[in-house]
Amino acid sequence: MPYDPSNIFARILRGEVPCHKVYEDEHTLAFMDIMPQAEGHTLVVPKTPGQDIFELPAEALAATIRTTQRVARAVRDAFEAPGVMIAQLNGAPAGQTVFHLHFHIVPRYHGKDMRMTSGAMADPAVLAEHAARIRAKLG
Ligand code: AMP
Repeated sequence: MPYDPSNIFARILRGEVPCHKVYEDEHTLAFMDIMPQAEGHTLVVPKTPGQDIFELPAEALAATIRTTQRVARAVRDAFEAPGVMIAQLNGAPAGQTVFHLHFHIVPRYHGKDMRMTSGAMADPAVLAEHAARIRAKLG
């Protein structure tokens, strides 16, 4: 199946759908996951279209992982997380549900299980506050 430009992240990138933005540069955008697996769950997407790690040009992937490292540092500091999980799923059998490549940044804590699936929509006011907390750490 070819890349579908009507996917939700493409629509966010075009400004058609709102998001709680954390960071943006020429090549990438980072925003809060709407159904967080933990407080601070953030997504990083390339502006270049590509469904998964196999489809995205290497330069766009490099820019995306650079942003992921930078934002993950800020997420870690903003949520005082001793651990941070970075996840990236390729294909429906792997659990991918949005077919525009993205990295998940999820704070992790000793003895605290991550929610297995993104079950519930978060309160937008809470997401806005979390995005501001991360932006403050990005400087
Ligand atoms: P994946 O299963 O890796 O494809 O993850 C897709 C992620 O996108 C899930 O964690 C969803 O909660 C998240 N998501 C879906 N729609 C939106 C949206 N409009 N804004 C922010 N995150 C979203």
